[in-house]
Formats: sequence, structure tokens, C-alpha cells
Amino acid sequence: MDILIVGGAGYIGSVTNHLLLEQGFQTTVLDNLSRGHLASVPKGSSFIEGDFSDPDLLKEMFASKKFDAVMHFAALSLVGESVSNPLLYYKNNVANTIVLFNEMEKAGIENFIFSSTAAVYGNPHKVPIEESHPIQPINPYGWSKSMVEQVLRDAIPTKKIRYVSLRYFNAAGALPDGSLGEHHEQETHLIPLVLQTLLDPKSDRILKVFGTDYGTPDGTCIRDYIHVLDLAEAHILGLKYLQNGGQSDIFNLGNGKGFSVREVIETAEKVTGKKVPFEETDRRPGDPPVLVANSTKINQVLKWKPKFPELGSIIETAWKWHSLNPNGYSN
Ligand code: UDP
Repeated sequence: MDILIVGGAGYIGSVTNHLLLEQGFQTTVLDNLSRGHLASVPKGSSFIEGDFSDPDLLKEMFASKKFDAVMHFAALSLVGESVSNPLLYYKNNVANTIVLFNEMEKAGIENFIFSSTAAVYGNPHKVPIEESHPIQPINPYGWSKSMVEQVLRDAIPTKKIRYVSLRYFNAAGALPDGSLGEHHEQETHLIPLVLQTLLDPKSDRILKVFGTDYGTPDGTCIRDYIHVLDLAEAHILGLKYLQNGGQSDIFNLGNGKGFSVREVIETAEKVTGKKVPFEETDRRPGDPPVLVANSTKINQVLKWKPKFPELGSIIETAWKWHSLNPNGYSN
């Protein structure tokens, strides 16, 4: 059973690949390494360097091997970049994904797992957020993901492909042994930035807390942090669900618990025993005050249960990764 992991050299794709191999699947990674890292592709996996927007390459790959499913992680995912360069996001995240669908259809590949996002909900009017909450993205990144979901809803039923779309909340953490983790050239995420301020005692890095005047108990934004291994597990459960004849569907993927930026800092201080240097600054444009998943549906339908429901244990694994690999995969 071979699974094609498009974008498998990135953070979530690489951990999912690790778990697939551990569970006895065969895997092939297709990644252009524009943002991913070859070092994150496990040895047991095949690797093809290339772009999923290239129909000839896809044709060749699909002719040479029968894939049971495609997992698609190869998206651009920086909100700020999507605002400054929306066409890049619509081209990569939407148009290129349609090329992939066309070639999957021609090759008769029926199962598709899509990495969607809580950003499709924009500023939610009801929290915890259910899947039925209106789709109202507030940036091109969120729109690009919701557009692919719309393509899936409209076009895929006529094309025999079945899908599970997972709307990720805030992915965090690393493999507990510190061997795979988060490394973005341009880091924007809270937990890695908090931990990076602690790595070099002589550095003058200071964390910026974006906004302290939100209508939340301590004034900072609240997010639902989910361990990357729990995310990975959900992909595999989604895959098995489709293989067992499950209907195409969309699921929130979060722990269902929210933590403020200040709580993340306090927890990181407890885990590491170090004081996080930070300063309070203006809000970051486009940040909704609270994003917390109602994850009842994925619990019930896919029988998904987080193994890392506590923020402390999520941060512990991230701290191990960052301590062992201060330069990420560039070591
Ligand atoms: N955040 C922050 N300082 C940073 C990075 C993030 O205060 O240097 C806040 C951000 O405003 C948001 C939360 O931390 O409220 C989580 O941000 P992140 O970028 O990790 O994920 P997002 O929720 O934007 O996907």
C-alpha cells in the first residue's frame, strides 16, 4: 500500500510520513524543497524532488507506481505573505492543486487527504467552532484553502475521488525523541519563537506579544494548540476511513482547549525553567481573538483522540527538538 505525500518534506508532512512508515505503509514524498527539508524525509520513504504543478511529472509517477492515496501538504501557509502576494497563494494552493486532481483522476487514484485550516472561519462568531460555522476567511491564505474545499465539494463527486479535509488549528510540538520538528526559514509561529528566545542566553532576541487589548481574560489571543503527532494520526485515521468506504467529509482538528499567548509563555517557562524575555506590542493584523475547535465530529466519526492533550507536554517535545537542533535541519 503506497501513499503519495505531496509536500512530505515539510513539518506536518514529515511527521505524518514517519507515522505512516511506523504503521506499515509504504510512502513516496514529492516535494520541491522550496520550503521543506530533505533531512526530514525518513530513510524508509521514496523521495522525488519536483513540483506537483508539473502534470508530466505526475503522469510519469502515476504510471510507474500505483498509489492508494494522496496526502497533500504542499501549501504556502503564511498569512502575511498571502496578503502581500495573493496571486502566489491562489496559484500554488488552488490552481496547482487542480492540476493534481486532474492527474489523480486520470490515474484512478481515489483517496485524498487535504490539509485545510481553521483560517477558513475568519473571525468566528461562535467558539468552540463547529464545522457548520460559516466560511468567512479574512485573508488570501484562508480563501485559498476554502476554495480547494469548494472544488472538492463541487467537482470531486463527479470524479470518483473521495476526500477527507482536515481543518487544522495550531500545529505544534515535535517527535518526543527530538528527531523531527518544526523548521521554517521564516518563523512566525508562537511556540517556536518563544523557545528560540531561550536557546542562546547571549542573544538579544525578545518575543513580541502581539496585542494585549483583546476581549479575552488576559487580553492576549487564544489558540487551540495541537501536537503534530496527533495531527499525523488524524491523517491516517482519515485514510483508513476512506479505505473502509467512508463518505467524503470535513473535520476540525484541534484539542478543543484554548490557551492565551501569556499562558503559552508561562507554560514554556515552567517546562524550560527559563524566563521568556518579551515585550507587548500592537496587534498583528488579521489575528482573530479566539480560535478553538469543537472536535466532537472527528472524535466520533474517525475515533480520533489526542495523545498530547496538555499544552505542557506539547511544549516539552518542541523544547527537546529545538534544544537538540538549534538550527533546525541546517545542522
Ligand atoms: N503571536 C505573538 N507573537 C509572535 C507570534 C505569534 O504574540 O511572535 C501570537 C499571534 O498573534 C497569535 C498566537 O500568537 O495570537 C498564535 O500565532 P501563530 O502565528 O503561532 O499561529 P496562528 O494562530 O496565527 O496560525
